[in-house]
Parts: sequence; structure tokens; C-alpha cells
Amino acid sequence: MVLADLGSKLSQTLKKITSASKIDDVFLTEVLNEITMALLSADVKFEHVARLTTSVRTQVTLFMKKEGKYTNMKKIIRQTVVEELTNILNTEKTPYEFKRGKSQVVMFVGLQGAGKTTTTTKFAYHYIRKGWKVALVCCDTWRAGAFDQLQQNAAKIRCAFYGNPKEKNPVTIASEGVEIFKQEKYEIIIVDTSGRHMQEDKLFEEMKEINEAIDPEENVFVMDGSIGQACYDQALAFRSAVNVGSVIITKLDGHAKGGGALSAVAATDSPIIFLGVGETFDDLEPFEPKSFIKRLLG
Ligand code: GDP
Repeated sequence: MVLADLGSKLSQTLKKITSASKIDDVFLTEVLNEITMALLSADVKFEHVARLTTSVRTQVTLFMKKEGKYTNMKKIIRQTVVEELTNILNTEKTPYEFKRGKSQVVMFVGLQGAGKTTTTTKFAYHYIRKGWKVALVCCDTWRAGAFDQLQQNAAKIRCAFYGNPKEKNPVTIASEGVEIFKQEKYEIIIVDTSGRHMQEDKLFEEMKEINEAIDPEENVFVMDGSIGQACYDQALAFRSAVNVGSVIITKLDGHAKGGGALSAVAATDSPIIFLGVGETFDDLEPFEPKSFIKRLLG
């Protein structure tokens, strides 16, 4: 299944419920099977899927006992599906909370083109506007133009910046940048790493080395919300390389509904903190699980 279809599949099933003339047990089983298949194909954990279906059945039974008829049943089913999908996104793990007056390092990882460099800048801008002392470090020595891109972004949002286009070792750059900004008492030091292609083990190795050298308080995994392939595998690969603590899904301003978000959460066991909703630096929205699910279901 193409994962970008998860949202469309779920909303199709919910529309089927809305337009049904009668909801009986056979029909309920059929739509719950559809929802189950869609979620399992997106690698949402079985326990979550099982909880969703049990919960819908329980609510339907309770409703029938109370009302004795099927009127308004559709609303109950939809509400329960929304609640349970929202629960999947409300992970037990909470995102790292920055503390004032302390230097904290946050490393951004993700595939090339996911929007990582843009997102580091948006993230920096978000905190600068709240009065935090923020710095950006570019240790992407792999992609031509990465240094210039982040340097220019940093200048636009008036953020401190460190990079060294002459140095080829990203571990050295990351360590130097973090050290300098720690000495200068920056509170949030954001490290932008090389965007990677999935097949490149060497680049994953490099990411691990940077991670070991700078020992960040938080690793943020940036994922393109419009990709139509296996988000789960991608998120899992990053989760296996470094300890991902939170997730940002980008490019949700276009047609993408972001069904891959459920897979990213399932793979990393980490909360989504922001959504990227455009190319400018204030196009970063704090993540709201419930409104995200409502949008996903259309
Ligand atoms: P990186 O290779 O992961 O560092 O990706 P970049 O930050 O260079 O972004 C790749 C492209 O995606 C650029 O053209 C960005 O402007 C664009 N981009 C990043 N985030 C978003 C977003 O939330 N919405 C849209 N529409 N475009 C984005």
C-alpha cells in the first residue's frame, strides 16, 4: 500500500459509514476490517489497532443498549475512531523541554530533501521569537550549497551561525560549533547534519559519530509528509542509528494529508512536535494530535 493513501483510505471508510443506510453487525465488521487493514499496512502497532476496533464495538454496544436504535450511531463511530487515532499520536514519551540559562544541543536528522535545513531555521526562529539565545551549526559537508543555505537562513532570522566550508570532517565541525556556542552560553544549539539517502550506510555511520561526539539532549527526525513510500522503514532506520526523541513532519501545506505521521510515531515511539506548512520561516505549526487526525480523515 502506498502510505500517502492512508488518510484517503481512512476517510473513504468513514464516508462509507456516513452514507450507509443502515449500520448492522455485518457492516460494522466490514468497515472495522477496512480500518484495521489500512492501519496495519501503515505499520501502526497491532495493539493500537486492536484497541481502536474494540473501542468502536464497545461504544456501539453501549449506544444500542441505551438508545435501542441506530440513529446517531455514525457520529459515535466517527468520534471513537478520531479519539483512538489521536491516542496513537499522544505517545507516552514527552518531547525534550528546553531549560533557560543552560546550553542544550539538538541535532536534526533526516533524508536529503525532507526539508531538514529549512526546518532547523524555522525551529531556531520559533525559539528566537520567544526570547531564547539560539545558534545554528551546519555540519553538512556532503551536499554542495548546504553551508551557504544555512548561513543565509541564519542571517535572515538574525541567528548565530557556525560552519566551516574548508573542513571536510562533519564530526570536527559539529564538535567545534557546539563547543564555541556552549562557551558563549547559547541556550539552544541546533546542529544540522547531512541529509541522507536511505541506502548510504556510510552517511548513517557519520550521523552516529556526530551523535557520539556532541551527545545532544534531543535528536529531531524530520520527515517529508508528502512521500508516498515506506515512511515506517525510513523512520525506523533513523531510530536505529540514533536515539530519536521527537519528529517534525514537513510539507503539509500541499495535498499531502500526512498519513505517514502515524507510521513515523509507530517506528520511533516519539511524539511529533511541529508540522512544516510552507517554505517561509514562520511556517511551522505546533502539533495538535486531534486536529491533525480530523484533517487526515477529511
Ligand atoms: P534538506 O535537504 O532536508 O535540508 O531540505 P531543504 O531544507 O533544503 O528543503 C528541500 C525543499 O523543501 C526546499 O525547496 C524547501 O523550501 C522545501 N520545504 C521544506 N519544508 C517545507 C514545507 O513545510 N512546505 C513546503 N511547501 N516546502 C518545504
